Amino acid sequence: MAYTVRVVKRDGLDVSTLVCPGCGVRGDLDDDQFHGTISVQCPDCGWHETVDFSKEVRNGFVAT
Ligand SMILES: [Zn+2]
Repeated sequence: MAYTVRVVKRDGLDVSTLVCPGCGVRGDLDDDQFHGTISVQCPDCGWHETVDFSKEVRNGFVAT
């Protein structure tokens, strides 16, 4: 499974965003979600998973 995570600048801060693999809606990831400490759930389609996105980014599975 490939995930699309982008880090965007918002008010001068880095914010990690994820495109939902289920429905394509983009949502924010907090630090715990980004590091796989807690799960991510999509409010629109109910997709949920716990993924260490920091590791995925390192391994090149995540498009930026
Ligand atoms: Zn979704």
